[in-house]
Amino acid sequence: MPNTFDLIILGGGSGGIATANRAAEYGAKVLLIEASLIGGTCVNVGCVPKKIMWMASQRYSQIQTANGLGFTVLSPQLDWQTLIEKRQAYIHKLHAGYEKKLKNNKVIVQKGKGRFHNTNTIDVNGTRYSAPHILIATGSQPAWPQIPGYNLGIDSDGFFELKALPKRVAIVGAGYIAAELAGMLHGFGCDVSWAYRSDRVLKNFDAMLSKNLLAQYQSNGINIYPEHTPRALKENADGLILECENQKDLPAVDCLIWAIGRKSNINDLQLEKSGVLVDKKGLIQVDAYQNTSVPGIYAVGDVASTWQLTPVAIKAGRQLAERLFNHKIDAKVDYSLIPTVVFSHPPIATVGMSEAQSRLQYPDDIKCYEAQFTPMIAAFSPHPSTCCLKLITLQSTGKILGCHMIGEQVDEILQGFAVAIKMGATKADFDETIAIHPTIAEELVTLR
Ligand code: FAD
Ligand code: NDP
Repeated sequence: MPNTFDLIILGGGSGGIATANRAAEYGAKVLLIEASLIGGTCVNVGCVPKKIMWMASQRYSQIQTANGLGFTVLSPQLDWQTLIEKRQAYIHKLHAGYEKKLKNNKVIVQKGKGRFHNTNTIDVNGTRYSAPHILIATGSQPAWPQIPGYNLGIDSDGFFELKALPKRVAIVGAGYIAAELAGMLHGFGCDVSWAYRSDRVLKNFDAMLSKNLLAQYQSNGINIYPEHTPRALKENADGLILECENQKDLPAVDCLIWAIGRKSNINDLQLEKSGVLVDKKGLIQVDAYQNTSVPGIYAVGDVASTWQLTPVAIKAGRQLAERLFNHKIDAKVDYSLIPTVVFSHPPIATVGMSEAQSRLQYPDDIKCYEAQFTPMIAAFSPHPSTCCLKLITLQSTGKILGCHMIGEQVDEILQGFAVAIKMGATKADFDETIAIHPTIAEELVTLR
């Protein structure tokens, strides 16, 4: 194998693969170095297996709804082993698909951990490779609290390795992963305790979403423990006990999952040999064009961004490839109005500013529209969920600043609305659009 390339990429996850393929399509000679499984977090321990588990958990309650519509469905039994086997078989197919596409694009894939030797040379398994352009796309890994007994718990990677469904689970954290795992595990029939250190969950989201999710989880029987900062994790004959700083212990559980954020994968890179700078949070410092502090070295994805989402990593990688290898000298990511979904039960979909953020930026010019309703299917379900929608607008122009939804199917509804909002849609544009009836989405164009 030749040792010089046009582009060397560290990390074969969402960002790395997208950059490699796009650059190679423009004729660049690309080396992609991957330390573990191709596909990275999203494919192996993130979006993909999570969505499969979420779908399974959703189906479980939907099967029960069928009874309400006249079907006779006996109490469904979940075979955990089969679910896991099917999930992993799907992931193996994705691996093959990624490998085939990289091969077709003539991207060379090298297995191993890449480390900087100098600003344009990378060391992998004792061999050196050089390129004028080097991309760091090494992603992130789960963070753990530094408290006694922390390693009696598991993280989201460990969740995907569970050999059996635990009966009693505690989840610690109040972000995406905690919200998703709490709903999913409760949906599978586990007794779930959800503990977090502040007084609200999903605190970067609109307060309507946090409040509503919590109310629905509570009424469905999830045990909620706000203002519980972990102090120690202990084990006794009854199971794992989380001790908290407020002196109130959580009830014993069989499994405790830490979901307290992620830290970037920079420790093995020998960054000191490259001169690349890292910020206080441990993220690689980049400008709007993904340039690091060293010319010729770039970073995309979780290792460099507070938007830790697969499509963001992909977009950043593709834009970089357009800039370096397709003469689009101004190609960069527009980080405004990024739509995102929390796959909770029911899901949350959101784009743009929360009400609090909007009022801070435009103190006297905000008008909000809100609706809360029970979707038709809920009338037939033993576990009905409500739906809440909220539009934040600029009162003076009607421009939509934010759109926030919680309820069944909002995960699929948001993408189209996000296009309209990105294009600058106003409340009047929404009002002029004829509704599709009967749907949940129609409520967004009939808000008063
Ligand atoms: P990664 O995909 O993590 O890829 C980095 C790769 O670099 C890894 O394969 C790693 O092995 C490799 N690597 C690390 N160090 C080295 C080295 N020194 N040399 C060579 N290779 C190295 N996002 C969404 O948009 N939607 C979701 O529904 C969603 N769900 C998620 C659920 C969970 C449980 C988690 C944990 C994350 C989820 N995310 C989701 C976030 C998403 O997975 C990440 O934002 C995305 O994978 C980041 O891509 P990346 O390319 O930056 O890093
Ligand atoms: P998040 O950043 O979403 O949330 C982290 C949570 O951990 C916060 O609630 C924070 O509390 C809490 N926390 C941090 N440190 C501690 C501590 N020492 N003790 C107790 N609690 C603590 O991280 P996640 O781990 O949930 O997810 C990581 C990222 O992965 C997400 O930010 C998201 O970008 C991505 N992801 C995306 C998904 C999707 O698109 N559907 C799904 C899953 C993950 P506090 O609120 O008090 O600060």
